[in-house]
Amino acid sequence: MNEFTPEQISALSAFVDPERFSTGQSNRELHLKDVSAHQGILPAAVVWPVTTEEVAKILSWTYAHDIPVTPWGAGTSTEGNPVPTLGGLVLDMTQMDKIIDIRPQDLQVDVQPGVLRKELNRQCGKYGLFFPPDPGADASIGGMIANNASGVQTVKYGATKDYVMKLTVVLPQGKIIHTGCKAHKSSSGYDLSRLFVGSEGTLGVVTEATLRLTGIPSHHLAATITFNALEDASKAVAIMIGSGLDPAALELLPPQLIRLMNREKGLGLPEVPSLFCEFHGISEATLKEVENLARELCEDCGATAFRSGVTESERKEMWRARHEAYETIHRAHPGTEPIIVDAAVPISRYPEMIVFSQKLVDENDAAGYVFGHAGDGNLHVVLMGDPGNEKEWSMLHDINHQIVTQAVKLGGTCTGEHGVGIGKRKFMELEHGESYQLMGQIKHLIDPKGLLNPGKIFI
Ligand SMILES: Cc1cc2nc3c(=O)[nH]c(=O)nc-3n(C[C@H](O)[C@H](O)[C@H](O)COP(=O)(O)OP(=O)(O)OC[C@H]3O[C@@H](n4cnc5c(N)ncnc54)[C@H](O)[C@@H]3O)c2cc1C
Repeated sequence: MNEFTPEQISALSAFVDPERFSTGQSNRELHLKDVSAHQGILPAAVVWPVTTEEVAKILSWTYAHDIPVTPWGAGTSTEGNPVPTLGGLVLDMTQMDKIIDIRPQDLQVDVQPGVLRKELNRQCGKYGLFFPPDPGADASIGGMIANNASGVQTVKYGATKDYVMKLTVVLPQGKIIHTGCKAHKSSSGYDLSRLFVGSEGTLGVVTEATLRLTGIPSHHLAATITFNALEDASKAVAIMIGSGLDPAALELLPPQLIRLMNREKGLGLPEVPSLFCEFHGISEATLKEVENLARELCEDCGATAFRSGVTESERKEMWRARHEAYETIHRAHPGTEPIIVDAAVPISRYPEMIVFSQKLVDENDAAGYVFGHAGDGNLHVVLMGDPGNEKEWSMLHDINHQIVTQAVKLGGTCTGEHGVGIGKRKFMELEHGESYQLMGQIKHLIDPKGLLNPGKIFI
């Protein structure tokens, strides 16, 4: 469905101010694609609600008229998660962008879903607090909740699911519900908030969230550690985590990616397998002890250098370069599209997963970069190619398939943080078996007509 009738347009546009409803071609095209190569079907219109009640009225009407609806946050997904697969209506949540209430005494904040992560942290920072989940992109809170996003600091602070306390959700038929509570703990029945976290907008539209916050750490220690082989670096990761060291970030980077970062950002780093890591602590003295142990463990794993005298500005530069890794890779391969592998395994299996993936990239002579949030056992392989070149594109898909299948075989998951979207649907049965059927039954119970973000998670 990619054109509405005049009657449908007039009914839908009555729910919001005229400037917040569009059937214009460019607005529709802007909501056709996330950062992946997944192609959608052009939506018939885009609407920008500003209140829960508007969302409820819109969904109640679309449900009654069998119109597919796809929620949209900042559009930074990598698996086609917000891409409309049946056209219909896109519900762009970006104008619901109010930070409603910061309560420093409770370490909580109430937000609308269109608030962007960086702005939230700018405002919470005034109280010495922050919201730790940090996908590199400046994602919306609604999109992060829907994808259960995480990032470089998840190894210490956890993923989005660990910070969601209470949600206001509009169900596909337009009913408004509230899940969870503002108490630090609760054993009160099914954890419905967690059901909506990671549901990718397939079960309901989040219109308000209460999030947990945490204190900004007073002391940081950043280090870059170099190795002769990626395998040694990944072994050091498993050992550091196993030893109870509590890194705030532990990232694995291959020489090829460091080369691109040096070229673009002038980092001047040795172009060898490396770990970027950071520790947070209450004093310089505690961090010194942590550093000594980390150095010893890394040297036992064959580290060739452990550079910890990283200044504050170098630390920021290093993490900025890491956060912009996708863009850096993209710029180095103009005219190509990415397939971003995102698998995770138990930490003890991480080294073999890294070796397996790098070997596949090398054997196929693919433009591929193996790196990841190593401390979480989360592996990314960014594969660059031309979707129009059938042979190359299917070779890259085959690499993706083999890595994901291997991760699931090792007890891991087909997606550590990017969500299922369109790209990972085919692995869900393999990973979840009968539980996947239960997920389908839950979807059917809440959205019997299958109108909310159709074509995601389920085939
Ligand atoms: C450079 C780059 C780096 C990245 N690094 C990471 C990373 O380290 N970790 C990570 O987790 N992700 C990463 N991502 C992926 C992406 O940023 C996250 O998945 C993010 O959570 C998507 O948020 P968004 O606001 O862009 O949502 P969108 O992409 O717009 O939507 C995501 C999903 O949420 C649904 N949705 C949006 N708003 C709502 C709502 N209010 N209610 C219900 N459903 C809603 C959409 O339908 C869709 O299914 C990266 C992306 C890029 C481009």
